[in-house]
Amino acid sequence: MNVIIIGAGIMGTTFATLAKEMVPDLDITILERLDGPGEGNSSAFWNAGTGHEANCELNYTPVDEEVISVEKALKIHAQFNVAKQFWAYLIEKGAIKDPTTFINQTKHCTIVSEPAIQELKLRFKEMSAHHFFEHMRYSEDFDEIKSWIPYTMEERPRHEKMAATVIETGTDVNFGALTEQMAEYAVNDLGVRIEYGTHVRRVHRSPTGRWVIEAVSKGVPVQHKADVLFVGAGGGAFPLLKRSHLPFRSRFAGFPVGGRFLQAQISEEQARYYTAKTYGKAKVGAPPMSVPHLDLRVVDGKHYLLFGPFASFKPVLERGRGFFDYLTSIRLHDIPGLLNVALEHFPLVKYLVSESFKGEKSMFEELDSFAPGLSKKFDWKPIAAGQRVQIIKDGDLQMGTEIVVSKDKTYGTLLGASPGASVSPEVMLRCLEQLLPSIFSKEEARKKKQEMFPEDDLDTLINAPDRYREIRDAVNRQLGITRSKAQ
Ligand SMILES: Cc1cc2nc3c(=O)[nH]c(=O)nc-3n(C[C@H](O)[C@H](O)[C@H](O)COP(=O)(O)OP(=O)(O)OC[C@H]3O[C@@H](n4cnc5c(N)ncnc54)[C@H](O)[C@@H]3O)c2cc1C
Repeated sequence: MNVIIIGAGIMGTTFATLAKEMVPDLDITILERLDGPGEGNSSAFWNAGTGHEANCELNYTPVDEEVISVEKALKIHAQFNVAKQFWAYLIEKGAIKDPTTFINQTKHCTIVSEPAIQELKLRFKEMSAHHFFEHMRYSEDFDEIKSWIPYTMEERPRHEKMAATVIETGTDVNFGALTEQMAEYAVNDLGVRIEYGTHVRRVHRSPTGRWVIEAVSKGVPVQHKADVLFVGAGGGAFPLLKRSHLPFRSRFAGFPVGGRFLQAQISEEQARYYTAKTYGKAKVGAPPMSVPHLDLRVVDGKHYLLFGPFASFKPVLERGRGFFDYLTSIRLHDIPGLLNVALEHFPLVKYLVSESFKGEKSMFEELDSFAPGLSKKFDWKPIAAGQRVQIIKDGDLQMGTEIVVSKDKTYGTLLGASPGASVSPEVMLRCLEQLLPSIFSKEEARKKKQEMFPEDDLDTLINAPDRYREIRDAVNRQLGITRSKAQ
């Protein structure tokens, strides 16, 4: 059986690696329009590099009339712990020599002021009662919070009432570096082929039932055939689905959201002083993906502070592609859904348009309101972030991701953007289960899965504290994450 994957981002590369580990004789080719792996949204500064495990993101624990819901947070935390198992396996295999090339421990903090203090207190009470968050700490003490996250507090007036939580075993992840090393391993050790500079324009089914993939490779039209197709092409997945003639294609459309960050390079000493990712509360009307956060980033051994994201309305499918590509991906049947979203989410559209025109001065004002005085302390520059394409399904805007698989299990795709790269091994494992279920019946493949994922059952991780702790401690040791390392 031959499998073609479109896109060598973290999703496509993880899919290929998992599949080939489980069934070494699968014939797998990845087609990628760029010149290397992980150069799209997965690259280091196109995303914020947070290892999302719900330690600090308020949008994962929505509050409704003083009742806080932690289900989403539990799921994401469990998914991230499945992801870490796979990354620990890659280290064990020698596919990744040094974990610090892609994952680095940072505190995960949340900081709020009035009137959100009650909400944070409630969140802490609910979450710290669960074994996932048993080491979470809460404080309203100015000096204690300052000791956790000094840059957010140093120049803040002492009378300003603040509250914060901290988990010391959070992570910063360079998903680009991870993808690169995984791709090298997949090609050199597992025999996956990757064809770079190959832009897929259209996929359709031949009369024999196989998929025909029409692409342009370095200016020359090429054609591939596949028994099974996985489209892990980020925003580029939408136009391919639209042109696929699959019956469910008309249910989906894309809602693009652009972004920017402020970035400043800092010294190693400054990085030791602020070893944290600190999340705040999103402004009223702002989408969940624009929760402000101030992050320590470690990329290629250098240290940076990143603040943002500043969302924007940018009608393109991926950064580096033009408006025309997005426009031609829209079909007549999409227009009512798009109009419905524009009307129903008018405050969001208005917010995104107004954010698009935000100049440097306003970006610095926002930084200073999050971390007083910080804009003057470092040499900040605005940088473009990656492009998210949110799902519009049956006319409704959705913020998560969705695996979509054709009835005959020959076409699978991942749509949407969040929580994304952090949970990619878990999401790609589920995708494999849906798209290539036959491989899970083979004893050898099942053994290999067990080796890669000693515990991939989310309910077990959520409901069995001892099993969770055993897994967490073992993978954290491999990844260099220790509680004693925390300051
Ligand atoms: C501003 C921002 C902040 C984020 N922050 C975080 C974070 O802190 N933590 C986190 O976990 N996630 C974060 N994410 C999400 C994360 O970046 C994505 O979930 C992840 O990178 C998606 O991986 P992917 O492989 O699907 O996409 P990509 O990395 O974009 O890969 C898709 C690949 O497909 C290729 N492609 C597209 N169309 C075609 C075609 N027609 N033919 C051939 N190749 C094609 C592209 O060139 C690209 O290389 C963030 C995203 C954004 C935009």
